[in-house]
Amino acid sequence: MSPATSGFHHVTAIAGDPQQTAEFYVETLGLRFVKKTVNHDSKYTYHFYFGDREGTPGTNITFFPWGEHGRSGQFGDGQTRTTTYFIPEGSLDYWRDRLESHDIDVDGPIERFGETVVTFDDPDGITLALVATDDAPNGQPWDESPVPPGHQLRGFHSVTLAVGDIEPTADVLTDALGYEFEAEENGRYRYRSAAGAPGSIVDLVETDHGRGQIGIGTVHHVAYQAEDTDEQERWRKQLSEHGLRVTDIIDRVYFKSIYFREPGGVLFEIATMGPGFTVDQSQDELGTDLALPEWLENERNEIESRLPSFEGPSVEPAPDED
Ligand code: ZN
Repeated sequence: MSPATSGFHHVTAIAGDPQQTAEFYVETLGLRFVKKTVNHDSKYTYHFYFGDREGTPGTNITFFPWGEHGRSGQFGDGQTRTTTYFIPEGSLDYWRDRLESHDIDVDGPIERFGETVVTFDDPDGITLALVATDDAPNGQPWDESPVPPGHQLRGFHSVTLAVGDIEPTADVLTDALGYEFEAEENGRYRYRSAAGAPGSIVDLVETDHGRGQIGIGTVHHVAYQAEDTDEQERWRKQLSEHGLRVTDIIDRVYFKSIYFREPGGVLFEIATMGPGFTVDQSQDELGTDLALPEWLENERNEIESRLPSFEGPSVEPAPDED
């Protein structure tokens, strides 16, 4: 019996215009901009993190905005089809109204595995969904959000992965990542971490699109949680024993990471819970100034001058609820 992950850590996608991305995730979805940094592997590209008040693992969606001239991605197998958030049970009407008032087309609600789901796209075409349920985790509401605390997104419920053939990916989930098959509905196969934590569901669907192409409007990778580097070492060993090629542990400043590509083509990461986003900025300062890793500090002027222009989102807290 393999160990089981306790849930997702973050989801990382490729966006186009940085300003448009920040406005959508903060002003429309009400997430906190918890970190403005650069892609460690491509230092003249921003890396944005949006999450709850503290950027708690399991709430963070992150972006590499490639800019308006970046290459568009093409959806296909080996990619994340949908990233789904929890919302509180009674918040469905609030969200439908809110999204529609921002001119966003909303699909649903539909019933899926006994839960109520609505689906919509972000400005670059990344598909998001909301599941309204009374077992949504509490999360850490952000007081300055334009969305009142009672309606804020409560972290990830699931990801839907599109693959050409379900079986090899399912085998990795069940044999190497501690997942268990739960149910099938309309060609959607649901797996849940044996650790039983909310926010760990992976749905697999088969597509015949052919292999997807990474680019603007596609998800780059899905990251799972590990408590610390000891646990990460155990994952490395276990995944390698399953014949997967796993990277060394890489320091991402806010967490440490290992990466591997599952046989269906989706890039997975396993990231540590700490040290978190307050390692280089105070809780109040999160997401304000450009944060750089130590090894890029001496290039700060050059990096700042080459990053695209970006004002940041404007934040107007929601009025107090009665
Ligand atoms: Zn990542």
